[in-house]
Amino acid sequence: MSVDGWNFEHTYTNLPEIFYSNQEPANAPDPQMVVFNRELAQALGLRSDKLADTPQVFAGASLPYGAKPIAQAYAGYQFGHFAMLGDGRAVLLGEQIAPDGRRFDIQLKGSGRTTYSRNGDGLAALSPMLREYIISEAMFALGIPTTRSLAVVLTGKGVIREKVLQGAVLTRVASSHIRVGTFNYISAFGKNEDLRALSDYCILRHFPWIESRKDESQNKYVLLLREVARLQASLIAKWQLVGFVHGVMNTDNMAISGETIDYGPCAFMDAYDPETVFSSIDTAGRYAFGNQSGIGAWNLSRFAESLLPLLHEDEGKAVELAQEEIADYWKLYNESWLAGMRGKLGLSGEEPENIGLVTELLGLMWKHELDYTNTFRSIMYAHQGDSPLFEISEFAAWNEKWRARLGRQKLSQDHAVDIMKKHNPAVIPRNHRVEEALAAAEQGDYSVMNDLLTACREPYQESEHYSLPPEPASCKYKTFCGT
Ligand code: AMP
Ligand code: MG
Repeated sequence: MSVDGWNFEHTYTNLPEIFYSNQEPANAPDPQMVVFNRELAQALGLRSDKLADTPQVFAGASLPYGAKPIAQAYAGYQFGHFAMLGDGRAVLLGEQIAPDGRRFDIQLKGSGRTTYSRNGDGLAALSPMLREYIISEAMFALGIPTTRSLAVVLTGKGVIREKVLQGAVLTRVASSHIRVGTFNYISAFGKNEDLRALSDYCILRHFPWIESRKDESQNKYVLLLREVARLQASLIAKWQLVGFVHGVMNTDNMAISGETIDYGPCAFMDAYDPETVFSSIDTAGRYAFGNQSGIGAWNLSRFAESLLPLLHEDEGKAVELAQEEIADYWKLYNESWLAGMRGKLGLSGEEPENIGLVTELLGLMWKHELDYTNTFRSIMYAHQGDSPLFEISEFAAWNEKWRARLGRQKLSQDHAVDIMKKHNPAVIPRNHRVEEALAAAEQGDYSVMNDLLTACREPYQESEHYSLPPEPASCKYKTFCGT
């Protein structure tokens, strides 16, 4: 271990060479720290007192002790179409072993061209890297599995987009960067033994209990599929509950670990609308808010297809096994989502009427173009008194049904409100607030971003400033991929 706390292992490089390429990050002429995550550094066993002042390490200009940088190979179904991709602008420094024994990939994003860059320059601009930092850290505070952000540094190098922008590198921390797309890649270009090596590696790294399962007659790769499906069902349900739109749910952007990964054109929805799309390139709405659970199932089907040779020697039987797991995904997704909605409405116990209450409420929000996050907060407050929301006649009728439902349960009113408080955040990183923070940061003022980060760290704390929806003019928000 180094004096800074770096404690790297490199188990991924024990896989066959088809999985990665050795890759030095590019030099950075003038690295400068923009934001450093001290709390995360500490959890990783890193000395923030030393590292917060070494931007060169997080720019790729100087490698930390024990790093062996690689770029990982993967493919992916982009908007449904298969493509060879790989880390085109990222290098993995190694796997940091944290003091609690957990293993985390430490990756630099925006650190120069790699074997997999295709026509890209391998670089990243400041705003999109800060965007990933802000949104991933907000997701973490909301209790949603996610990759995390350790630092963003300026490189001192310009990045040419529509105009010249300031180049930056994000240090990303993940349970691993293995994607459904990694399996798609091996299935297309590797041998069956490579597929088996990758699957065994994932089982060991993410689902070690599969190896120690009692029933040896059960195929362990079916269990791998089941675990990945279970994690995705729970993850996507959590996105839906907070109004998060990932924006580019290609199979290369779906992590085997069940963490939200690759924050590109993602954003949080203000007014409720299942057709919400922020990404400028998603013109058909494939990745719209209301489609995310279905896309999760579609991606899992591509995962299952890649795993097929391992699921059963008889292909027909393998397909049947895969279909059962995908059916279970839907069951788990619906259960997780409904359980979360029960929490948002302070309901205890499963009743057939719950689903009707929820869908009617969402329908009303859609019709009246109401803010998703704030409507749930006002319903929560309405439990303690009156709410202007219920002056709208359709909501008043809904309120009657909701109150009748609450009246039938044993939970005290205070207890119900407590549950609601834990399920209804007041602060989400709203697009207009994120944009303000990024605009100031572009000018060298990081205070707006730091205030936003502080608010996002306590999402259940009331905040007038951060819960204010945008002006109608900024509602048609657009985000851009790969910028
Ligand atoms: P994304 O849309 O961020 O998931 O990226 C899709 C693919 O494009 C991945 O293989 C990325 O590594 C690659 N990519 C995105 N931006 C760049 C860039 N500026 N240079 C090289 N590759 C890139
Ligand atoms: Mg990606």
